[in-house]
Amino acid sequence: MAYILSVFAVRNLLVLSLALNVSLILRVLLLHDSQDGSFNGFFFAEQKEEALATKITRLSSSVAPSPSLPIAQGDEDRVINLDHGDPTMYESYWQKKGDETTVVIPGWQFMSYFSDATRLCWFLEPEFAKQIVRLHKVVGNAVTENRHIVVGTGSTQLFQAALYALSPCAEAEPISVVSAAPYYSSYPLITDCLKSRLYKWAGDARSFSKNGPYIELVTSPNNPDGFARRSVVNGSEGILIHDLAYYWPQYTPISSPANYDLMLFTVSKSTGHAGMRIGWALVKDEDVARKMTKYIEINTIGVSKDSQVRAAKVLKVISDNSEGPNEGDSFFEFSYRVMAKRWKQLREAVQQSGLFSVSDFPPQLCMFLNRVFEPQPAFAWIKCEGDIEDCESFLRGKKILTRGGKHFGVSPKYVRISMLDRDKNYETFVRRLSTIRS
Ligand code: PMP
Repeated sequence: MAYILSVFAVRNLLVLSLALNVSLILRVLLLHDSQDGSFNGFFFAEQKEEALATKITRLSSSVAPSPSLPIAQGDEDRVINLDHGDPTMYESYWQKKGDETTVVIPGWQFMSYFSDATRLCWFLEPEFAKQIVRLHKVVGNAVTENRHIVVGTGSTQLFQAALYALSPCAEAEPISVVSAAPYYSSYPLITDCLKSRLYKWAGDARSFSKNGPYIELVTSPNNPDGFARRSVVNGSEGILIHDLAYYWPQYTPISSPANYDLMLFTVSKSTGHAGMRIGWALVKDEDVARKMTKYIEINTIGVSKDSQVRAAKVLKVISDNSEGPNEGDSFFEFSYRVMAKRWKQLREAVQQSGLFSVSDFPPQLCMFLNRVFEPQPAFAWIKCEGDIEDCESFLRGKKILTRGGKHFGVSPKYVRISMLDRDKNYETFVRRLSTIRS
């Protein structure tokens, strides 16, 4: 008996030590991954960090320090990841606001699935709905009258809900989903992810000529190139989804309230709170709004109330500050100024380098900020000039991670670069870009 017990004990010890070792190795691997700023599991992170870790071992001699900006130790050697549009630039503003947007939720609150069972979108928090309407009124960027609001877990979920709601269910084949290239790189991935029998990605809207119904995604201002857009397919049976994630005054002049059948917005790019995972749709047609709500019910049985309450608070503070006596300190003034400075720095860096080009945008009057300015998009859409064919690889060689043109349905001579990273990263990026010669 004693023998059996002691064998058992030794066995247990061995299993325990094996488990500890495996968990230690996993921890080391995970820590290693997060140190270069990679996003584990982000669906479009793809091969980037892996390729970078293995392929880049040297810093190109053509990246020399700029005399004008102070360089932190190790900065010249650091990988700058501007692939994702992670809006961390906004952290400093919200930090300065301190407790103005702090939300405390007692443990017993928001426990029910339901927010307002009498509403079409029964999981929409009434206070959030109120603040959405108010902010659109204050900014003047969208018509909310005679619209149904549907809340989603980010506008990513609302996009899927819209595809579900707009697809005819009696058709023999899936409806085509198109968008003019360069289009947002997630559209094809999301559309074809589940190989639906309802809808199917059909590529660049400019070359789409199939008869019959189709869904066209109109992103304005556009991700990746920042231009204002209208639908381009000339068919009579088109159904439009307007993705207005960037129709906010820090990125583009607000010329008039958008007035489309189905408009998508998100806090990710308006306030910078991507981690809340909150978006909203303004939908004219009641049946479409009902079907979108149904999709979200089937998909996630609603949307986090905690996040909606927090989002309501953030929107309220933005509206209060935009209308109040301290307008100069308002969120949109702050973010407009940061974007203006960054675009100026970018254009100077592009000019100094001579290897790249970036579009000019026509200036327009912004009714909200009451000034004329050129769009200053959330992404820079940069072209490598000369004989550089693969701009993404070229910049990866300079330890700048970007997303190449092929993800957006165009030439690899283009890359998309996030303009919304923290100051330190952005400064390092423009300094490095300005010194690249070949
Ligand atoms: N639409 C566009 C055009 C975007 O650029 C993004 C974010 N990159 C989204 C939708 C997704 O937004 P969310 O974080 O709300 O899912």
